[in-house]
Amino acid sequence: MRDAQAKPTQAGPAENGRFDAVIVGAGFAGLCMLHRLRELGLSVRVFERGSGIGGTWFWNRYPGARCDVESMEYSYQFSEELQQEWNWSERFAAQQEILRYLEHVADRFDLRRDIQLDTRVSSAVFDESAGRWTIETDGGARASAKFCIMATGCLSSTSTPRFAGLDSFAGPTFHTGNWPHAPVDFSGKRVGVIGTGSSGVQSIPLIARQAAQLFVFQRTPTYTVPAHNHPLDPGVQERIKGDYAGLRRRAAQMPFGFDTRPGEKLALEATAEERRAEYEDRWARGGLPFISGFADLLYSKDANDTAAEFVRAKIREIVRDPRVAEMLSPRQVIACKRLCIDTGYYETFNRSNVTLIDVSAAPIEAITPRGLRTKNAEYELDCIVFATGFDAMTGALLGIDIRGRGGLSLARKWAEGPRTYLGLATAGFPNLFMITGPGSPSVLSNMVPSIEQHANWIARCIAYLREHELARIEPTALAEDAWVEHVNEVAGGTLFPSCNSWYLGANVPGKPRVFMPYLGFPAYVQKCDEVAAKGYEGFAATP
Ligand SMILES: Cc1cc2nc3c(=O)[nH]c(=O)nc-3n(C[C@H](O)[C@H](O)[C@H](O)COP(=O)(O)OP(=O)(O)OC[C@H]3O[C@@H](n4cnc5c(N)ncnc54)[C@H](O)[C@@H]3O)c2cc1C
Repeated sequence: MRDAQAKPTQAGPAENGRFDAVIVGAGFAGLCMLHRLRELGLSVRVFERGSGIGGTWFWNRYPGARCDVESMEYSYQFSEELQQEWNWSERFAAQQEILRYLEHVADRFDLRRDIQLDTRVSSAVFDESAGRWTIETDGGARASAKFCIMATGCLSSTSTPRFAGLDSFAGPTFHTGNWPHAPVDFSGKRVGVIGTGSSGVQSIPLIARQAAQLFVFQRTPTYTVPAHNHPLDPGVQERIKGDYAGLRRRAAQMPFGFDTRPGEKLALEATAEERRAEYEDRWARGGLPFISGFADLLYSKDANDTAAEFVRAKIREIVRDPRVAEMLSPRQVIACKRLCIDTGYYETFNRSNVTLIDVSAAPIEAITPRGLRTKNAEYELDCIVFATGFDAMTGALLGIDIRGRGGLSLARKWAEGPRTYLGLATAGFPNLFMITGPGSPSVLSNMVPSIEQHANWIARCIAYLREHELARIEPTALAEDAWVEHVNEVAGGTLFPSCNSWYLGANVPGKPRVFMPYLGFPAYVQKCDEVAAKGYEGFAATP
């Protein structure tokens, strides 16, 4: 590890380059993986389609974009020096600050010289005779590598519903997941925001303050808990830094990989008064730990109803128009779609320039040159914001033509849904690794520790192969089948599969409905460690 004082550089084109490893993507995952493989002395090339590093935090520049896991925990732990020297300014850092942090990491560890920007990987094909991957990019450049690591992101492939007339709109359109670099000025404009998931919840209050009129098109109402974001007290930060390792250790024991202060009591065994007190306390503290107040909230519908009703009561309290409050009140299980955290979301609907439109009852029929038409009415708009999310977990992977042994295509193999062993690898694709792939805690966890755990595991596995003079590794079909079954079993014991969430692929028409993430960070880490300790049990490694 060394401090890079020199001006940041960027790798030149890798035409016909041969590398030990190619990494696709330069977000949290790609950067960390590059650092780890460099430590092993491997030659590595990172390809990134964006014109900058940072992944999520490069692309999502919409107003209000920030993390919803606290900054002190939503950060790398691989370097104590880095942990100590970086100061977060807010409880939940905004996009610009997280991007600055990642830029700092890239410079500090001199990562840029192995990263090739503006380069989309179009295919990765395994050559069985050579035992190497051939990676092709949009520009026609090729690289060859023994190991291919997909750090392509769970939420990096944007999804826009195919509305009729989409291209006919005369004004500008924006997707929250691919926001312009120059600030967008909505002053004096009639703006339509489609979608009320996390990005909608974060951006709507800020767009509402600027726009002349804001129309929010909502298909499913969202549960959101106040963030109570605030500047980080330097004293608090110093205290955490005094025992950062302790915080990381405690967080690693939590089901979601960050400190949620889980309640041990069951909601159904608590009195109504105890429940109310617990929910009030968590509402006042703010953030995602709200859903960890009682141990049965994600397992029992009756228990979950008590938390859901608490939030609905808050909505009725906050939103003055009872009709709007009712429209904003979700009916599904709380947290079976990603729980959001917000700054003034429900309050925004008290503004006279904001109109909520329920498009579940009267769906959007078409985008028109002047706006948008639902089954019931027409809305004149100057700009449209698509806060419609992502083709989560598999979108970016399947956006690359990946072919393993015998020309087997990943898209064909996953036609009925993704199949992996530990979310790290998939049978038939030797030496191909995924960071936070489907079947790993990924989006059901604090993703930075999950990413680091994967990068560490992959680096250790590659080191093992070298030590034992093994050329290839891939999961056995048996181990993969058992893991897929286990992931489903764990999800099946919870309330997660009970609604149409992106965890299930339900937001993308035609996508197979399979619950993709794995619930339970500590058990997962233990399993990965056991697999490694037993000589990569469930994998076949060959010379
Ligand atoms: C608005 C927003 C807020 C979030 N907040 C949190 C949070 O608070 N806590 C949390 O745990 N998680 C959060 N997430 C999830 C977030 O995606 C992860 O925490 C993390 O940033 C993922 O890092 P990554 O490197 O795995 O993927 P990404 O950051 O998505 O990076 C993947 C990169 O791969 C590149 N890529 C993809 N395909 C190709 C290709 N074919 N060729 C070349 N390059 C390619 C992409 O351009 C992208 O830059 C948030 C996500 C969003 C969208």
